[in-house]
Order: sequence, then structure tokens, then C-alpha cells
Amino acid sequence: MSHKFKVIVAGAGPGGCIFARDLARAGIDVTVYEKGDYEKIGHNWSDAMERSALAATGFEAPFEGKVNTGPLVKSKGGAGNPTGIYEQHAYPCMEVWSPDYSSRKMVDFRYVTTDRRALGKLLIDQAKEAGAKIQFRHEVVDIILAGGKSLGEIEAKGIVVKDIETGETKSLQADIVADDTGFNATLRTKLPAATGIAGKFSSKEFAMVHRTVRKRNKNAIDPVADHYRYGYNTGYQWMQYLNEDEIDTGAGVKHDPNNPDPKDIVKEFISRHPSISDEMIRGGEGLCLVGRSPASLVAKGFVVIGDAAAQTIPMTGCGAGGAMMGGKFAAESVIAAASKGKNDCDALWEYNWKWFVGSKRGANYAGLTALRNILQDLTHDEISFLFRKDILNSEMLTNSINGIFTLPDIPIMMKTLVGGITRPGLLLKLNAATTAGTKIFKHYLAYPPKWDATQFEDWKVKADRLFAVTVK
Ligand SMILES: Cc1cc2nc3c(=O)[nH]c(=O)nc-3n(C[C@H](O)[C@H](O)[C@H](O)COP(=O)(O)OP(=O)(O)OC[C@H]3O[C@@H](n4cnc5c(N)ncnc54)[C@H](O)[C@@H]3O)c2cc1C
Repeated sequence: MSHKFKVIVAGAGPGGCIFARDLARAGIDVTVYEKGDYEKIGHNWSDAMERSALAATGFEAPFEGKVNTGPLVKSKGGAGNPTGIYEQHAYPCMEVWSPDYSSRKMVDFRYVTTDRRALGKLLIDQAKEAGAKIQFRHEVVDIILAGGKSLGEIEAKGIVVKDIETGETKSLQADIVADDTGFNATLRTKLPAATGIAGKFSSKEFAMVHRTVRKRNKNAIDPVADHYRYGYNTGYQWMQYLNEDEIDTGAGVKHDPNNPDPKDIVKEFISRHPSISDEMIRGGEGLCLVGRSPASLVAKGFVVIGDAAAQTIPMTGCGAGGAMMGGKFAAESVIAAASKGKNDCDALWEYNWKWFVGSKRGANYAGLTALRNILQDLTHDEISFLFRKDILNSEMLTNSINGIFTLPDIPIMMKTLVGGITRPGLLLKLNAATTAGTKIFKHYLAYPPKWDATQFEDWKVKADRLFAVTVK
């Protein structure tokens, strides 16, 4: 491997840190520029994180295969949780409720609640220990480009970075520039439009999410368990214990001015639950990306990771695990490319392939995006009906919440027909969603295995055509 091979990363989110850590461990010269501070990295709350992503990126994934025996299974910083990143309360299964509370299903919940400040710092520490350089309070303001306009011709040569303290800007050269700047995708969106991967996410591709961690009122008689309310107000609502003293509750809705403010949904929920006190401990709100990935995650000298690449589960907006997996796959491809002294589309294409086909993450997320596009506007009455008829059953809910697109099988289709017979409009929507989702899922599994400009263009045109029918 050439020790001169140099990589620059914009953004120290979970994706950028795993990417930088793994490159540094392989001996590559890598520098991360992060506009924020070490102390404020991540979120001021705890997120549901995929256990499989944590395990694949080198973290002990607690509770795998174990059945929860009680509400509190381990203490922060204690045995089995040495890094202190996991909340005490873990629940391998979760109750998922219909919007009108008339029906509930038990789903296999393959997440663990993780303190995002603690995880953010730990990821930065790991990257630094591996030898990556991390510059805080440095904002990447531009990407330096050369070559033509199309995906095969354009080349990222470096970045322009601003020191936030001094206001000074510098141009820096690199063999690979990585964009992990979150859903604004600051660098990807500066590539020429002719690459086909520079588009900004539209406002329809976001959910607005509000969450608050409250002190638990232990004296209250309020036997409310961890649960998730599916399809409520075009989104979801949840409540979970973090430990004996703290309750996390929140809601997300489709980002649309006509939808209720998720803060009001949470307020109303709290008003019905005396166990959740007015004492706020942590929390916040923001946009969660639920859209689809650009058609390629690489260009010559360029990779895009995390929210900037829409590596988020479309049904929930959970993207921290996807970003870590994206960072891992991108690092594997860059290490292989660096060993050949290359940085072109050919050499980096393996990242695309791993994301869309090898791990099936990209294909699953694309299929789920199609389902979400069509089904997100169902009424509470329609979703509750699907729950009661077991058309939205535990298996389907388990899959969609965990980011897996399920190909409809014959018994499920039959059930759909029988259950939906009294509601032809709903049946039509379900059919449209499963048909579009299946076509899209299969199309993503047929992603070009190697970089080929014509094959890529044909694949992309077809993907755009398939998605067009899912968007109103
Ligand atoms: C309210 C809310 C709740 C959420 N809940 C969950 C959850 O429960 N589970 C889950 O998995 N996900 C959740 N998410 C989504 C999750 O936070 C993101 O998917 C994940 O953090 C994306 O990681 P990333 O690597 O793309 O980087 P990000 O976390 O988006 O970080 C990007 C980093 O880049 C930096 N940056 C941005 N622009 C520049 C620039 N120009 N120059 C230098 N630095 C820059 C930012 O300061 C930031 O540190 C939630 C999000 C919100 C808003």
C-alpha cells in the first residue's frame, strides 16, 4: 500500500468515524474535518441502534439472542456494558400498536438504546487511537473538482475547509474525499448534475421528529409499557423506559406543514400518562431522512456515507447503524483501491455493490421506500383495520421496523385479498405498494456489479421510472 494515499473526510458522524477508524487501522493517512465540538458530538439523547451494525463494527452487541428477563438488565458502565454507551433497559421484543390502539402485535426489536453523546465520543476516540487526525471547528465549504461532468469523468481532488475560529480557508488535496456531512450532503450536492448523484433530498423525504427524556414519576399508577404506535399521523410515536428513573418518549410525522407538530403529539401523550413527569432531562428535535439513496455512492476520488447517502431505514428514520455500515463498506473498498494505488469508479465500485446487493441493505431500503411512499397516507382507520385483520402482522412489522423488505408470499397475498375484500380502495393501494416495492427490490439486486457507464445509466433510468409511480 502506498503510504502517500491520502483521504479527507467531511463530518465526524457515526459513518465518518467508522470510515476514518478503519482506514487508519489499515495504515492510510486520513483526516476528518468536523464543524462541531467534541463535547457536542451526536445527540443529546439516546437512539435506538441496530445491534447487528454495532456488532459488525466491533462493538459488543448486548442482548443478542437473549430473552429479556426483566425491565433492567444491566447498568451503564457495568459488566457487559463497559463502554457505558447502552441504556440500562433493553427489550428484544416490542409491542407495536395500531394508531387507534385497537390492536397490538409483538415484534422482534433488533435494536439497543444507545447514548448518542457517549457513542459519538467513543467513535471519535477510536478513530484517533487508530491514527486518524480529527480537526474540530473546521467546516468543509467546497469540493475541488477536475475532469468532465459525467460520473465516469469527474474527479474529486480535494476540499476547501474553513477554520471556524480564525475564519481562514485552505485548499487541501486528497486521493479520496468522503462526504459524511449528514442529510445536507454538502459535498455530494456540489458535484455536477450530469453525474446523476448530486440531487438534494426533497422535503417529502424527511420526517420531523421530536423526543424528550423525562423523569419518571414512580408513584403514579400508570402501567404503560414500552411501545411503538405505527402509522400514527403519517409517522410513528413511541415511549420507552431508559432506566428506572427515566422515560424517553417521542413522535415523528411526515415533514409537511399540514401535519400536526410532533411536539404537540408528545405533549398530548404525556398529558395522558401520569408516570411521565414534567421534568425534562434531555431531548431535542430535528429532521430524519426517510428518502432513497443516490444511484451511486462513489465517483472518481469520492465516496458518500451515512445520511448524505440516505443510508437510513425508511420506516423509522434510524440511520446511525446504516451510517456505521456504510462507513465500514466504504473503508473496505478504499483500502482495496489504495492497495492498487487507484481511486477511480472501477476501483471504488465494490462499495456500491456491497451496499445495494452484497448486504442487501440498499435493496431493502429501496423496497421499503416504495412501500412507505404509497402507504404513508393511509388513514388511522385503514391502518388499524390492517392490524386487526392481521394483514399487517408481526412478521411484516418486524421486517419493516428492522429495515427488511419482505417479498409478499402467496398466503399473505391471499390474506390480503380476503381481508381487503370489504375495502377495495385499500386493497388497490396495498397491491400497488407491494408490486412497486417488489419490482424495486429486485431491480436493486440487479445493480451493475462493475462500473460501466452505459449499464449504470440504463439501471438508473429504470430505477427512476420505477420510483416515479410511487410518488404522488
Ligand atoms: C430527532 C432525531 C431522532 C433520531 N433517532 C434515531 C434513532 O433512534 N436511531 C437511529 O439510528 N438514528 C436516529 N436518528 C438519525 C441519526 O441521527 C442519523 O441517521 C445519523 O446520525 C447519521 O449519521 P451520519 O454518519 O450520516 O452523520 P451525522 O450524524 O448526520 O453527522 C454529520 C456530522 O457532520 C458534521 N458536518 C456537517 N456539515 C459539515 C461540514 N460542511 N463540514 C464539517 N463538518 C460538517 C456535523 O456537525 C455532524 O457532526 C435520529 C435523528 C433525529 C434528528
